[in-house]
Amino acid sequence: MLKKPCPWCEKKISFWQLGRIRKKKLTFLTIQHDFLICPYCAKAVKLSGRSLYLLWALLPFFVFPFISMFTDIELFDLLPIDNRFLIMSIGYLFILAVFFGALGFSKFAKDNDL
Ligand SMILES: [Zn+2]
Repeated sequence: MLKKPCPWCEKKISFWQLGRIRKKKLTFLTIQHDFLICPYCAKAVKLSGRSLYLLWALLPFFVFPFISMFTDIELFDLLPIDNRFLIMSIGYLFILAVFFGALGFSKFAKDNDL
């Protein structure tokens, strides 16, 4: 499911096989840009697709630590003691599911910026 055809050479590649090139992009600000490179044809690809919006579902998990950091509320203590481990496990599974779901249903598109 995680293997998708390269938009340039049609070979099936998985996300983990992609190479990475760091290249400076010259705009009015010089920014570092990481390009993902197809291992077969060495052309730049990028992830695209609506499924990537799923990643926004993970946002709360990145915000939680900051809530405890800036307020006195300790969110971890709000969890019922008996079920703490279970709830944490479900949380981690949810994060994994969203992450792989978003990757799995996305596709590769041509990146012309190389
Ligand atoms: Zn390719």
